[in-house]
Amino acid sequence: MVDVAIVGAGFTGLWTAYFLKQLRPTWRIAIFEQHHVGYGASGRNGGWLIGGMAGQEDWLSGLAGGQRQHSQQLLYGIVESVRAVCEKHQINCDFNHAGVLYAAARYPEQAHSAHAWLNEIHASGQPESAFRWLSKSDTESLLSMPELYGGLYSPHCATINPVKLCLGLASTLKGMGVQIVEHARVEEVSNRKVTINSQPVECGHMVLASEAFPSTWQPLTRKRLPVYSNVIATRTLSESEWQQTVKKPGLAFSDLCRSVTYGQRSQGGHMVFGARGGYQFGAKARYEFTQDDPAFRAPTTLLQRLFPTLTEQDIQYRWAGSLAMSRGFRPFAGFDKESGIAYAGGYGGEGVGASHLFGQTLAELIVESGSIFTEQPWIIRGKPSQLKNWEAEPLPWLGYQTLGKLFALEDWLCHEKKLPWLHKPLYSLSRLAAGLIH
Ligand SMILES: Cc1cc2nc3c(=O)[nH]c(=O)nc-3n(C[C@H](O)[C@H](O)[C@H](O)COP(=O)(O)OP(=O)(O)OC[C@H]3O[C@@H](n4cnc5c(N)ncnc54)[C@H](O)[C@@H]3O)c2cc1C
Repeated sequence: MVDVAIVGAGFTGLWTAYFLKQLRPTWRIAIFEQHHVGYGASGRNGGWLIGGMAGQEDWLSGLAGGQRQHSQQLLYGIVESVRAVCEKHQINCDFNHAGVLYAAARYPEQAHSAHAWLNEIHASGQPESAFRWLSKSDTESLLSMPELYGGLYSPHCATINPVKLCLGLASTLKGMGVQIVEHARVEEVSNRKVTINSQPVECGHMVLASEAFPSTWQPLTRKRLPVYSNVIATRTLSESEWQQTVKKPGLAFSDLCRSVTYGQRSQGGHMVFGARGGYQFGAKARYEFTQDDPAFRAPTTLLQRLFPTLTEQDIQYRWAGSLAMSRGFRPFAGFDKESGIAYAGGYGGEGVGASHLFGQTLAELIVESGSIFTEQPWIIRGKPSQLKNWEAEPLPWLGYQTLGKLFALEDWLCHEKKLPWLHKPLYSLSRLAAGLIH
């Protein structure tokens, strides 16, 4: 018997346990993990710790002034809140709060879409100090790319080594008395009970933190769609090589295109770079990839376009994994008091920071403390059945293929500067198509 059983030792599960222990130090908490700590997206992401979450413009624009300020502060405050925990428990995760730069790196249309995005950000009430446009020369002081047109900068992002954060948190939790049981797959969840290896474990509450992993028992099945993302990393680069690529240590950077790219200059001296990969028919999550998997071609080609001094031989590491998209493209955190089930997920590619906020939120919802965390518009009270389902196949697969091809065509034509008369209509069509599935 435990007070709280948590399914999944990724950031959501680990942070929830951490904040529960702060609020209820005597509670017995067990985390059951089917593989090992950080096996899922948490141990294999690009290390952007964002002070925000996917879809925050939508949330914030719907709020009145005072509430909006509170929500904004919670989101922006994520980065320093993670730093505080790491400092308190001496977790070394290569934390570097250097901000993020979304660069219009290859063609002028990227600058147009950056301005359109910036307008949405400011229309949602977010200030100039949170997101601002940098001129070409200001951008060049941070990044060296041959065709820069400027960039969108936000200070609300740090870079970390995700594996170090997962392992550091796990060891801190063990020190606090949290039980972390690895290689323990939860086969079933039922009335205040989780079943592992046919053995039931009774619990007062349970937390579903399994994100993109499929399970037949999950009340969250069809609420999330797994999409995979691919990451590559270079050998250690020298300071002179950094001066020709990413000048600012710890900077998170992106090529502002629809492939959703994310890079960082890591503390270990590697350039880490990832891009959204694909979707498998039947909503299958994917975590096993070989080093020569064709999935790594796209990020490699793009990285070389951005930094022509890097060659394929400079790439030393390749890995990938699945993240989960909710049907509304907004992450969710909820608690059903009747069944004692708390749940969070659907972070898209922005869960490293959001899972910290949601871990604290789930903990506060479970102990029913009532705080600023539990009074946010993204919280669901009651069963996860309130969340929208994804459509049945083949619709998600067809939708993903269509959008993927459209986005790739738009990017290729703009990058190659071919058929310029088609760029604007394609941009509008891509925007419309992306808007339609929202
Ligand atoms: C390649 C890649 C790059 C990314 N880059 C970034 C980034 O740079 N910045 C950012 O903010 N976000 C990024 N993300 C997203 C981010 O990593 C995730 O949103 C976040 O880590 C989700 O954490 P989680 O704990 O909810 O899920 P996960 O980390 O996926 O953890 C779920 C855990 O549950 C376990 N589990 C599942 N089913 C069971 C079961 N039945 N029994 C027991 N255990 C189970 C799994 O093994 C897994 O360890 C990226 C994702 C990927 C895949």
